Amino acid sequence: MGASDTTTRPAVLILLGPPGAGKGTQARMLEERFGLVQLSTGDLLRAAVAEGTEAGQQAKAVMDAGGLVSDKIVLAILRDRMARPDTGQGVILDGFPRTEGQAAALDALLADQGLAITAAVSMTVDDAAMVRRVAGRYSCATCGEGYHDDFKHPRQGGICDKCGGTRFQRRADDNAQTVEARLTAYHAQTAPLIAYYGARGVLQTIDGMDAIDAIAAELGAIVEKATA
Ligand code: AMP
Repeated sequence: MGASDTTTRPAVLILLGPPGAGKGTQARMLEERFGLVQLSTGDLLRAAVAEGTEAGQQAKAVMDAGGLVSDKIVLAILRDRMARPDTGQGVILDGFPRTEGQAAALDALLADQGLAITAAVSMTVDDAAMVRRVAGRYSCATCGEGYHDDFKHPRQGGICDKCGGTRFQRRADDNAQTVEARLTAYHAQTAPLIAYYGARGVLQTIDGMDAIDAIAAELGAIVEKATA
């Protein structure tokens, strides 16, 4: 990814929030609307685990326990992904950075490429709602479209709205015990980034309890304003 000039500078949007805040859902909507690319370190790590790479093997136990994978592994995976040519219009960072070390490394990586953070959006949800959201979610095994036991069913039972796929999956770490650990990791290590980006003047806050479409409209306005 590289910048050409300041008027067409690719967007770099950071979505900050606990598990279940709606980061992935919103990132996918922004991808479709603006041609940005969702970079989810969780998805990249799950792919590395499935492929059985060395990084994946090291990450697996930590992910299963709901902890944070080392900055070294996460940064290597993120750098590789950022270097791919499809990121030219800009990226939505979903689940990254999660520590101050990652945030500082991101600042350095963007500075190297002449890029700047468009906005860091903190999506707030209360802890009880977040546990309910995470516990009920599942996705199409073919295209990744997200669904939820309580909030969003496929229009035709058992068939993905988006691709017609008939196999669905749940994440191994979306169980009550691991969710508690993920929430603890969020409060201890990731929530301090809200102040980090506040101090840099790029922080925006969105109520993650709002309706999906209302949040999408707010995020769309942020991207439009920043890239106009
Ligand atoms: P997510 O899909 O974002 O909920 O991430 C799932 C799991 O992957 C997390 O609970 C962590 O174990 C790991 N993970 C994802 N992104 C990061 C990151 N930026 N830093 C450390 N661990 C991460």
